[in-house]
Amino acid sequence: MNSICSHLDQIREVTPSAQGCEECLQTGDTWVHLRLCRSCGHVGCCDSSKNKHATKHFNTTRHPIIKSFEPGENWSYCYIDQVDWEDRPARGGAGGRV
Ligand SMILES: [Zn+2]
Ligand SMILES: [Zn+2]
Ligand SMILES: [Zn+2]
Repeated sequence: MNSICSHLDQIREVTPSAQGCEECLQTGDTWVHLRLCRSCGHVGCCDSSKNKHATKHFNTTRHPIIKSFEPGENWSYCYIDQVDWEDRPARGGAGGRV
């Protein structure tokens, strides 16, 4: 079903590295939204944030797939294929709207 992205084999069961953008927390900076790397669990800030650490993480590591780390959001995005898709709902989902 997700054949538009050929990197799904790089998705791991990851533990988020932090509850905020790792780099921004270190420098005391702020962010807009958070993205979780699905290969290693790195948490970085989105492209609407001034530091764009999630994209920088991809450029550094070539980990292709990130996931939204925002509550209630289930989409993932592949930097290489430049596609996003919705993951299946979290377990026990009662169909609540986001
Ligand atoms: Zn891909
Ligand atoms: Zn950041
Ligand atoms: Zn990573």
